[in-house]
Amino acid sequence: MRRYEISFESFLENFKKSVVKSGYKNSIQKDYILKILYFSDEHLSAEQIVNIAKTLYKIDMGIATVYRTVKFFETMNIVNSLDIGDGAKRYELNISIHHDHMICTSCSTIIEFTDDLIEEQQEKVAKANNFLLKDHIMTIYGICEKCQ
Ligand SMILES: [Zn+2]
Ligand SMILES: [Zn+2]
Repeated sequence: MRRYEISFESFLENFKKSVVKSGYKNSIQKDYILKILYFSDEHLSAEQIVNIAKTLYKIDMGIATVYRTVKFFETMNIVNSLDIGDGAKRYELNISIHHDHMICTSCSTIIEFTDDLIEEQQEKVAKANNFLLKDHIMTIYGICEKCQ
């Protein structure tokens, strides 16, 4: 399991409050998708979410519902999506400590990394352009060690 600084219960409670505040509705599907993402070690595709819902929680979820819901999560800024080049985006909660990704275009392996220098450099570049940096997504595409 990934390490988050917030328990799932508190995270879910906060999220539900902000959903109501934004004028949207909570649903059991939303809760389960968040739970699946929270307790997963991987970056999950919509199809994987459907499968986990079925096998682990005995919940039947349509894939369209999952796509709609993760899109909603993205607009609420609690989920990030990753394009790994196989047509199926992968999703993760963005409540863990910031990290970037390397994606192998041969086997689709995702490697997470953090690099202080890259982070600082982005701040510098933004500043040099009088740009207020709020967030960034960095994905490096290439070939992993195994596939080389
Ligand atoms: Zn590979
Ligand atoms: Zn990640």
